[in-house]
Amino acid sequence: MSSSDAGAPDCRHPAGVLRPVIDPNRCEGKAACAAECPYDVFLVRRRARSELPTLSVLGTVKWWVHGGLQAEAVNADRCHGCGLCVNACPESAIRLVRVTSARGSADADAGAGTAGAGAGADSEPDASASTSPPPRR
Ligand code: SF4
Repeated sequence: MSSSDAGAPDCRHPAGVLRPVIDPNRCEGKAACAAECPYDVFLVRRRARSELPTLSVLGTVKWWVHGGLQAEAVNADRCHGCGLCVNACPESAIRLVRVTSARGSADADAGAGTAGAGAGADSEPDASASTSPPPRR
């Protein structure tokens, strides 16, 4: 979606209050978040296995099957907390958290949407996994 505010939803927060956190063990790079976000917060790209050190065994399998595609909140400081991405993600991989420091760290759930806040690294990452994703078919 365009970064223009024209047609943007009536967001509840100014930028810098909330930010999206993506669970890499759930994300399958389907880009619904990037399509929905009015502020161009997300970039979906192929990510090396080494960029995702918290992947579980299942997350590693999903990463491999989907060609390494993952969403990344590259412009998280633009987030207005509308929750469109949370609701759009078919894998419930996004939750919104409140920004708590000047450096932009975040540590508290904001309660927007129904994303899988409880999903996390439930096992050690597979260090033997390939460092580059397979080619996309
Ligand atoms: S809540 Fe999601 S869709 Fe809305 S501005 Fe923030 S990142 Fe974009």
